This record gives sequence, structure tokens and C-alpha cells, in this order.
Amino acid sequence: MKVYLTDRFVEQEDAKISVFDHGLLYGDGIFEGIRLYDGCVFKLDAHLERLEMSARAIMLQLPWSRQEISDLLCESCRVNGLKNGYIRLVVTRGVGTLGLNPLTCHNPQLIIIADNIVLYPAEYYQNGLKIVTSPTRRNNQAALPPMIKSLNYLNNVLAKIDALNMGAFEAIMLNDRGMVAECTGDNLFIVHKGTIYTPPVNSGSLDGITRAAIFEIAAELNIPIVERELTRYEIWIADECFLTGTAAEVIPVVELDKRPIGEGKPGPVTKRLLELFQRNVAKDGTMI
Ligand code: PMP
Repeated sequence: MKVYLTDRFVEQEDAKISVFDHGLLYGDGIFEGIRLYDGCVFKLDAHLERLEMSARAIMLQLPWSRQEISDLLCESCRVNGLKNGYIRLVVTRGVGTLGLNPLTCHNPQLIIIADNIVLYPAEYYQNGLKIVTSPTRRNNQAALPPMIKSLNYLNNVLAKIDALNMGAFEAIMLNDRGMVAECTGDNLFIVHKGTIYTPPVNSGSLDGITRAAIFEIAAELNIPIVERELTRYEIWIADECFLTGTAAEVIPVVELDKRPIGEGKPGPVTKRLLELFQRNVAKDGTMI
């Protein structure tokens, strides 16, 4: 596999960056996870726009235009002969001194890894996922806005450890007011009495690209969809629950903290959304 590293393609074993890169020293950088379906990059423009917003938020001046990144990303898929896969786009602050000061870093690094990803075994899409509530609260907006897709993912990693320690693959993270924010790597939705609900991003979640795709599909299907704050209570009494993410796509949730959700199996609305999502992915892409 060939990895793009700032100005060239290198073999996987040679894809190395400096130990003085602030991306490593401080998690000072940003990233995107993007899918390639049937030779088309799904929602590439939306991902690159989010990358640019993350860059602005951390005052990292991207030396590459959106078109340049887009071209390099497509080339990364082509040189690896990939038709379906997962692309990890990383921008680090670059090499600097050992102090925090980002102004000592003059050369941001661009890393593009085009590979494969399997997040959950197929049976979970069929039978649904059992999740838990993490005691680790989502980052406070005023500390590190969760809308920034930064390399600083320790908040999520801690919650993932909580999930794994409780025998689950995914955990809900609440914000500092106890409202549902999202999961460690996915956005959360519920279905109740025919309406879909999801927390607004200012509850403490990433503005997910898959999340936005669900809004489009719900409109197509004429299913009302509402963004509003959610409590755990509302998940307990929901008819259905599902998660969305680039890697996970749309995955049903059938249990939260050992409480069955709805009938304890994937519901009809979730199944319909998953079906349409999978049908739409190939239609909505940038050809590599
Ligand atoms: N929340 C978090 C914390 C994430 O890392 C991700 C991406 N894996 C998501 C939500 C889902 O976002 P997207 O649909 O853009 O992948």
C-alpha cells in the first residue's frame, strides 16, 4: 500500500513522520474519515469543507487548496487500485519545538491513507448493537468544541475504553449537563411515534456527514426529523435507535445499558434508512 505524505507517495513501511511533529506531541492537527464506494468518493466536498472548518477553528493555515487535496485523495485511491474502501486524511501542525507554541511549526503535513475498514461484524447490522452509557462526559464546548475533528481524540478513547470494559463496542457520551451528545465515533438517532430525533450538534457532537445524509433520506421518505436535546430517558422509551458514521454507516441499536430498546430488535424505520443509505452511496460520489 502506498501512503501520501505531504509531497510524495511512499510505501506503507516508509510512511513516517517526525517525533517533533505537534500532531504527535500535542494531538495538534485535524482529520477526516471518508468512504470510497464503487470508485466514487462519498460526499467528498462536505468532508473537505469540514476539514477546512476544523483547520480554521485551530488556526491552521492549509497550504493546499480544496481541489489539490481532492486530486491527491483520488490519486491515493487510484495508485492503490482501490474501488471500495476508507480514506483517512490527516493534517498535522508539523514539526516545531518541544513547547506548545504552534507558531514554531511552519510545515503542516498532509497524510492520506487509502485502505479498508470493517468497524462492526455483519451480524450487528442484522441483529443490532448493544451499547452502554459512558461515565466519561463529552468535552465541554468551551474547552474543546466537539465540532472540531481534531487529532485530540482522548475524550472519545476514554469513553471507548469504558464501553469495552463494560463488554460493549460503543458508548453514549453525555454532555456536562447530562444530555445525550453522541457516541465515541458515531452520531445517535432515535425513532419515536414515527418521528426521528437526534441531538443538535451544540449538545456536543460532531456535525456528521452521515448524519446529514440521514436528514436527506428522511426528507425523501417523508419521515419527520427533529433536532432537539435528548435525555437517556428518551432512548429508554424510544421505539428504535440507530447510530451513524462514515465507518459504521447506519447501524441499529437494540439495547442501552441492558435495557431493550423498542422490541429489542432493529426497527422498520432504521432498516428502511439503512437500505436507502446503501442505495444512495454510489449515486452521491466524486469519481476517482
Ligand atoms: N462523532 C464522532 C466523535 C466521530 O468521530 C464521527 C466520525 N467517525 C462521527 C460522529 C460521525 O461522523 P461522520 O458521519 O461524518 O463520519
